[in-house]
Order: sequence, then structure tokens, then C-alpha cells
Amino acid sequence: MITIETTDIKTIINQQRNFFQTGKTKDINFRLEQLKTLKQLVLENKEAVQEALKADLHKPEFESYATEIGAIKEIDYAIKNLKNWTKPQKAAIPFEFFNYSAKIYPEPLGVVLIIGPWNYPFQLIISPLVGAIASGNCAMVKPSELAPHTSKLISQLIGKYYSPEYITVVEGGVETSQKLLAEKFDHIFFTGGTAIGKIVMEAAAKHLTPVTLELGGKSPCIVDTQINLEHTIKRIIWGKFINAGQTCIAPDYLLVNKKIKTDLVQGLKKCIQEFYGENPETSPDFARIIHKKHFERLAKYLKCGEMITGGETNPETLYIAPTLLENVSLDDIVMEEEIFGPILPIIEYTDIQEAINLINSKPKPLALYIFSDDKNLQQRILQTTSSGGVCINDTIMQVGISSLPFGGVGDSGIGSYHGKASFDTFSHYKSVLKNTFLFDINWRYAPYKGKLSLLKKIIGT
Ligand code: NAD
Repeated sequence: MITIETTDIKTIINQQRNFFQTGKTKDINFRLEQLKTLKQLVLENKEAVQEALKADLHKPEFESYATEIGAIKEIDYAIKNLKNWTKPQKAAIPFEFFNYSAKIYPEPLGVVLIIGPWNYPFQLIISPLVGAIASGNCAMVKPSELAPHTSKLISQLIGKYYSPEYITVVEGGVETSQKLLAEKFDHIFFTGGTAIGKIVMEAAAKHLTPVTLELGGKSPCIVDTQINLEHTIKRIIWGKFINAGQTCIAPDYLLVNKKIKTDLVQGLKKCIQEFYGENPETSPDFARIIHKKHFERLAKYLKCGEMITGGETNPETLYIAPTLLENVSLDDIVMEEEIFGPILPIIEYTDIQEAINLINSKPKPLALYIFSDDKNLQQRILQTTSSGGVCINDTIMQVGISSLPFGGVGDSGIGSYHGKASFDTFSHYKSVLKNTFLFDINWRYAPYKGKLSLLKKIIGT
């Protein structure tokens, strides 16, 4: 395991602080150049990225492009909009303050820390970095130690394309992460599990460092009767089993209207075969579990409820087959913890209120999926549940729309990013009020005698 000494961390932070103080990163043209460099970094090393992801997760090439290398879309979006985002915004002034003008200036925060997870180990470092660069910050990056090939590659590439006083990578595991968290940063952007999110926030609190926590949770997927069954089935199977279910916004469990359950289950089984063949273990399109620890955690879930299909495992290759479960109990471990693997419990409901009650009995999820063309039902669910985001009649795709802020609520996270939200996350909005020297109105100065009635009029009392 790679480790770094605290003194080295302090040295890098100081170098970055000094570089930030030069003001270079505030220059819009500098930021645009650095965003273009980031795009170049990705495009010139696509094959290496894909190979590292294959080595870490057996990630299919298609998925590497769709969900990791595709991060360049975020870079393009930032390049296109940066000049607009960085413009100071005029703020409205009440009539009685006619002698003032007000503006809001976005300014960079300084030196930020980005800590990534292993499931989309490349994209979940690059995407927040887009925001950090666009907003004019220096950044320290710690990729996940559980995806060592990708972590090493990110370190090499960032080292090649950027100077360490501007952006640098610190590789390592929990110990390194904790050493980093002990230091003062101007923002911490963390992607990972809810339990570690609490540790990050506690460490940040010691320095009053603001945090963005992109966490996980159990994202429910409701399936009503008013659907196109074929489309619903494909979109659920794709969203659940992409990256072998190791996706923070994968449908965690299905809540299915009893009337449609038999047809849906038959269709889901068939679809798994169509997508991954008779034996998904031999499919080039199905990823593996990241680590033995996670394999063992997931293997326990296979004992819950009744197996509809799947359940096969191979501890040597960390393979777990796409699995559908039914008749799980709400007390089963598979319904208590975030699954984060290729196992999908299916729960039926008779009345939609049962599904809503179940969702509301659990911590607020990162994503909520509704398959229904019934607008009243869609509205009812939107109004009676809370989640980081919602996607209607599809899965996962919400994460790819740069104009939609992406983040959780409650246990699924704090703050959001993507597109303008990334710029906002890594910026401070500085309010600036300006008076004129042309004249001075005396209404607020002592002695106050005779001025109260005018004040009352201004306040409106
Ligand atoms: P994790 O929380 O175990 O690890 C994330 C990072 O935290 C790693 O870099 C790791 O080195 C570091 N870390 C681990 N333990 C630590 C500790 N005790 N102190 C300080 N740092 C520590 O998460 P993971 O297993 O890599 O990722 C899976 C989780 O991430 C899931 O819960 C998933 O839902 C969530 N996730 C969320 C998003 C999102 O965008 N909201 C995206 C991907 C994954």
C-alpha cells in the first residue's frame, strides 16, 4: 500500500497555496486552457484508461466509454459556459437604495481536496476536477485504493499534464485519506459511502471546511401497471447490471404493482439472458466485483428471500451472476443495507401508498425511479417522497445531463455537482455593494431626532 508522510502533504498544500496566491488560477483564459488540457489528458489516454478499468473491474469497453471516458462531455460543457458562469451578476436594489449598485462575484475557494470511490474510479475523479478547475482552484486528488490500476494511471497522467503546485494526486488508502483530512482545505469533495461521509464531515468540521458529500443509499424503483413493459424491462436490467450493479444510482430494489409482477419478472429473466447470454460469466459485457470484501458482503445477500434467477458465484474471479430475488423480508440484510452489486430484490405492492410508505420509512435515497405513464401517480410520488433525484420511465440517465445538478439529500449526501452546479460547488459567491460619492443622504446618521418617521416609512411599518 502506498503511503505518504504528513510532512509531504503539508509541503504540497503549501506549494498549492502559494501558487493560488499568485492569482494565476483566477484568470479565465488559464482555466479554459486547463480544461482543454484535461480533455486532452482523457482523449490521449483512452486506451490506457480502458485497460486500467478492465484490470480493476473487468469493465466492458462499452461501459468504460459510456460512463467513464464520457466525462469529457462535462469538460466540453464547462468550456462552453465558463465565460458566462464567471461573469459577475447584477443584483436588484430596492427603490429607496437608488444610490447603490450591487453585484455578486463568483470567486475560487483556494486549495480543494477530492476523494474518489472505486466504482467509477476515473470519472468520479475527473468530473469533480472539472468543477475545481473551472472555478479557479488548486486541487489535491485521492483516488480509491480499491481500484489500484486506475488510481496509478490517474496519478501518472495528472503528474504528466499538470504541475503539482496546481493539481496533484496523492495515492493511498484509509490512512492516507485520514492524513489528508487532518489538514485544512478550502473545500472537500467526497464521493463514497454514507458511513465514511460522516468521518469526512467530522474531520472537516475541525477546520470549518465546507464539504460536498456524494454518498449512496437504497434507490427504489417503482413499477406501475401503466407502462411499456418491454422498454421498462430493458431500462431496469441495463441500469441495475451495468458495472455489475456497483453504481450509486442503480435501482437497489423494485417495488412492483402486484397486477404486473408475473409479466415483469418473466420479462426481466428473459432480458438478462438476452443481454448477457445463457452464462453471464462468459459474457464480455458483464463486470466483476471489485474486491473480495465486497464479494463476501454480497454473497450473504444471496441467502435472503427466494431466488428467481442467478445466484451463481465464483470467488476466484469475483463473479456474481445477475440475480433476481423475491419474497424478501424487510428485515433481511439485503433490504437493510445498500446492495451495490448485481442482486435485485423484487417486492410487490397492491396500493401505491404501501410503496410510498416503505420508501419513506428508509433514509432518503440518492435516486428514485418511477415507471408509469400515469401523470397523477407520478405527481403523487414526487410530492410525497424525497430523494436526491428522480428519473421517470428510465434509469441512470439523469446522471448524464449536465444541466441537472446531481447529488443526494439526507443520508444520500450534501451538495451537488455537474455542469453549473460543479462551478457553484467550488466557488464562493461574494456579494459586493457600492455607494456613490456624488451625494450623501442623511437619514441614518445620529442625532436621530426627527428621522424615525422616515425610517418607519422605508421599513413599511
Ligand atoms: P468508501 O466510502 O469506502 O471509500 C471512498 C473513499 O474514502 C476512498 O478513497 C477511501 O480510500 C476513503 N476512505 C475509506 N475509508 C475511510 C476512512 N475511514 N477515513 C477516511 N477515508 C476513508 O466508498 P467506496 O466503497 O469506494 O464506494 C462505494 C460507495 O460510494 C457506495 O455507498 C456508493 O453508493 C457511493 N457512491 C456514491 C456516488 C455518488 O455520486 N453519490 C458515486 C459512486 C459511489
